[in-house]
Amino acid sequence: MITVYSDDHNLHCGLLGPRGDAWAPSAESPLRANNVIKSLREQDFGEIIAPKDFGDEKLLRIHEPDYLQFLKNAWVEWEASNEKGSNARPDTFVGAGMRYAETESIVGKLGRYSFDATSPFVAGSWQAIRTSANIALTGAELIRKGERAAFAACRPPGHHATTRYCGGYCYLNNNSLAAQSLIDSGAKRVVILDVDYHHGNGTQTIFYGRNDVLTISLHADPKIEYPFFLGYEDEPGEGQGHGFNINYPLPFGTDWDSYRVVLNYALQEARRFAPDALVVALGLDTFAGDPTTFFEITTADFQRMGAAIGELGLPTLVVLEGGYSVDWIGQNTLNFLTGLETGREESDRLPSPMAER
Ligand SMILES: [Zn+2]
Repeated sequence: MITVYSDDHNLHCGLLGPRGDAWAPSAESPLRANNVIKSLREQDFGEIIAPKDFGDEKLLRIHEPDYLQFLKNAWVEWEASNEKGSNARPDTFVGAGMRYAETESIVGKLGRYSFDATSPFVAGSWQAIRTSANIALTGAELIRKGERAAFAACRPPGHHATTRYCGGYCYLNNNSLAAQSLIDSGAKRVVILDVDYHHGNGTQTIFYGRNDVLTISLHADPKIEYPFFLGYEDEPGEGQGHGFNINYPLPFGTDWDSYRVVLNYALQEARRFAPDALVVALGLDTFAGDPTTFFEITTADFQRMGAAIGELGLPTLVVLEGGYSVDWIGQNTLNFLTGLETGREESDRLPSPMAER
């Protein structure tokens, strides 16, 4: 399996997030992607290639032009302002009943385009954000050109980002950009399966009114976990998209025995949709050893998860999302990808669901 990766993500570093009474180092650090690539290299997983640059056009298929402008300029405007601090971050948000006004202040803009305070900007952020999107788009191109599977080692992650909001460590929605790119290059239907511990609120919102991209997410119940305000069971999609969004909220303590039952339902839905391609939003934060979350998926289970998804036998792009156990994210990712390949080999021996159409 080909992996797409760039060292550019290291420019998005020194990030701070709110913790307790202070701002503390963010759990979303360069070590995450670096350890993923280290594991793939050490265990000779496959070829690692650099991303292509797709320019703004592909980004604008998902994101608003003014939001893109904001992302590009946020750090420069912060530096030019009277604001002090190593991280540009919002403190005022557009609450219900307020105006989504075009403020000139960078602090205002940070609030206008963020839904939380976890996605700061530093000097190298934009380059890392853009490259991360290019990694996903390059992965989508590999699938379009006939690769059966590819891995987009993206950082920063993307599934919380909407058309015009950053949040949850995410800025551009990498998996949505990839899915859109597949649709634009001829795929009739694409499934995005999000197995990150957190609900992929950005991805859901982006495709909520559409029936060409089926969005499925398994995640910790938003009643008790971030992002709190989306990801419930009764969110089926709207208009033409009604029936094309499926959420599976799960309780704290979910282990593989209960997870795989729900994953099987999700995979049945994916199969029934008869998609041309699958995009997996791969968060490794369902891991039992993740310091920020409350599921009980083990390192060995990630191989089982990959195999179950691989058995769909679909052209599959895996896009890296969350996962905050820096010591284990590499092995867990490798296990998932190895499992995916095993599952695919298994399904290749069976008649392809695509061939029946
Ligand atoms: Zn997550």
